[in-house]
Amino acid sequence: MNLSAKKRFMKELLQGIVNYTVDDLISFFLEDSPLSFLRAPAGYGKTACALAYLITESFAGNRGAIFFRTRAEVNQALRLLSRMISNLPRKTIDHLSVIPLVGKDFYCRYPPEKKSLVKWWCKIIHCNFLSRYRSQELMDLLSQNVYDSLKKYYNIARDLDLCPYYVYQRLSENADIVLTTHPYIIRQSFLNRIGERSIIIIDEAHNLLKSITVKISEREYAQGESLERTMHNQNIDQDRFLATLFYQRREKDLLILARYLKFQEEEGTIISERSHLIKIVPPIQIIDRLLSRSKVILMSSTLYPISLYKTLFANKRPVREHIIKGFIRSTSRRKLAILKSGITSKFNERGDKTFWRYTSIIKKIYDSIKENIIVFAPSKNFAEKLAKYIGAPILLEEPNRLMESLGISDLKDVPIIISVARSKLAEGIDLSYKGFTPRVLLVIGLPFPKITQEDRIIIQFYSKIYNIKEPLLRKSLSLSSMFSALIQTIGRIGRKKKVLLLSLTIEFLTLI
Ligand code: SF4
Repeated sequence: MNLSAKKRFMKELLQGIVNYTVDDLISFFLEDSPLSFLRAPAGYGKTACALAYLITESFAGNRGAIFFRTRAEVNQALRLLSRMISNLPRKTIDHLSVIPLVGKDFYCRYPPEKKSLVKWWCKIIHCNFLSRYRSQELMDLLSQNVYDSLKKYYNIARDLDLCPYYVYQRLSENADIVLTTHPYIIRQSFLNRIGERSIIIIDEAHNLLKSITVKISEREYAQGESLERTMHNQNIDQDRFLATLFYQRREKDLLILARYLKFQEEEGTIISERSHLIKIVPPIQIIDRLLSRSKVILMSSTLYPISLYKTLFANKRPVREHIIKGFIRSTSRRKLAILKSGITSKFNERGDKTFWRYTSIIKKIYDSIKENIIVFAPSKNFAEKLAKYIGAPILLEEPNRLMESLGISDLKDVPIIISVARSKLAEGIDLSYKGFTPRVLLVIGLPFPKITQEDRIIIQFYSKIYNIKEPLLRKSLSLSSMFSALIQTIGRIGRKKKVLLLSLTIEFLTLI
């Protein structure tokens, strides 16, 4: 396939999926460059284009992989991919193998209650499926179909009496396209499992700014070390010793040893933070090991400020960047409006007057539109104060718990709900309760992060390896984190219904 044939093919794949011209994105993906950055507003169609690009290149014999932040995003990509494939004539897709690779906690048929045991679980329970990962029947099915959900991939392997986790690990090595999650790019040992790839795409790449692979308290580390000594003194191998602790019901020791061994085996540089030890993989290390063998594309709606990403991921290497202005767009399902309120959420201005002004505006909005509103505040502390002023409940997790605690059976009965940027709700929990979703989302203030001790230590570490002054790094990372949180919060709406979004902040206007 020459370049124009590839462009035509990508357009064909995107028909009915992205309903406007994305020629610029198509050209971006097809251009040859070892390292590229793409920043495009949420909802612009970059994931769909990335998938269309991977399909196109796979027909040219170039195998690729795309790394998403979460399992839910892998699922969403499978849906898109199977819709695209259904646009093609049946014969075209023969022998296109797509493998979604996610963690053992999802693919394991008998997962442990304690997630920290999952790594050793197969051997602890002597699972019979450990060796069941070969199946021609499964390979035949996968070469003829792209299924539209992870659950279906799980079910197909299970129904063939296989271990989904091991069988997909094995098949991913030779698959044309692998869809997986960030842990597979952070850890070299995981990356090796997906075989040689000429194209690597990292979605939501801003999440790799701070890739902590493991964290343990010094106390637990010392306890783990002592258990390990006992294991060596008794001359028992690791798997057997863990199994013995499990069957002797020494749960505390088992979990401590499991966490200690995980810490030992994980990748990353050790840095210590007060009473904890952390392992971290700096962004440049991730990119360095990819570039020797693959074309690498980083994409996100929040690669901001771009100079920070260039420094931390490319470190003076040439980067081709494509930036589409704006951070989030209004779509047919999402209407974005910015209300210039003149109020600021700055720390030193969070007095009574500010909260009264926010309260007054939020109530006025509700009175004039009579639609349920969910308000995202910049921090938990801010949310708690605002909730008191408004007399509204706070929601940080699944709506059903709140509804039960309020003794309410319908989310409609709560006109205003307060939540927090970076809460579980902001990061992806379903906003709806019994099918009802608030139609108006208000983001008030800017969710600048609180710089923790862990952040300070990481900034010190980066400052040394990248040779950048700490205050500059702190400022850029803080700005970047604020943008990511803001865009993620706004991105919670507009997936299913038409909504109106208002941002009550003057600083937001100034920054974009
Ligand atoms: S072999 Fe597979 S099914 Fe069995 S415990 Fe391990 S991951 Fe789970």
